Amino acid sequence: MTHPTADLTISEPVSIETLRDVVAIDGPSGAGKSTVARGLARRLGCPYLDTGAMYRAVTWYLLQRDACDFADGSSVAPLLGALDIALDAEGRVTVSGRDVSSHLRSHEVERRVSAVSALSVVRKRMRELQRAMAEHGLLVAEGRDMGSVVFPAANWKFYLDAAPSERARRRQADFLAQGREVSQDDVLEEILVRDRLDSTRPDAPLTCAEGATRIDTTSMGVDEVIEHLARIVERERT
Ligand code: C5P
Repeated sequence: MTHPTADLTISEPVSIETLRDVVAIDGPSGAGKSTVARGLARRLGCPYLDTGAMYRAVTWYLLQRDACDFADGSSVAPLLGALDIALDAEGRVTVSGRDVSSHLRSHEVERRVSAVSALSVVRKRMRELQRAMAEHGLLVAEGRDMGSVVFPAANWKFYLDAAPSERARRRQADFLAQGREVSQDDVLEEILVRDRLDSTRPDAPLTCAEGATRIDTTSMGVDEVIEHLARIVERERT
């Protein structure tokens, strides 16, 4: 089954109180958010918004322009106006029409993404795009600040977590599937650095939103988590 394409080119201002038909999924790296969110959206027949991919795409875009060595957001702000990001149902990400999906998990993007995401000017632009996506019906949105900042009125909020060693194991398996050999220790170090940066930044830090259901996925399979979330959403939507 296919589901609608996520068109992120619309950026009309919207009232956040009206954006309720949203399943907001947050949590640290490797907690299983992307796989779960994609599977849940497929099951519910609605679009899936991978906001981590958006922040990675901005990072790639700024790296292309040698604009990642910033002291503050002032040098970055003028570049964001022309930024056009689109995600499709298969998870492909385009920046101004160019498919950049294969670059989003590169070492360089991974190393810089938390610093780029900490810039308020970047977050403001991403928030506009993300909220515009929720104007067209049910949306499953996944990231770090979906339930706390972007969609505070969301009807469903979940916070997925897992033991750091399990998160590192999952990330390592993702890398191996892409043909990249990385030690589990290196992956663990990288995700812990990112978690620290993401949860200590002043603007929209990673946090379990008020009213969110916290789920520890350490010993749960993906299908089990999807089933659990789907039952809650389906029960409350009917
Ligand atoms: O989820 P993923 O690992 O792809 O996210 C990459 C990075 O994007 C995170 O480490 C974080 O710095 C940033 N991010 C964010 N806010 C979101 C989603 C991702 O700051 N809503």
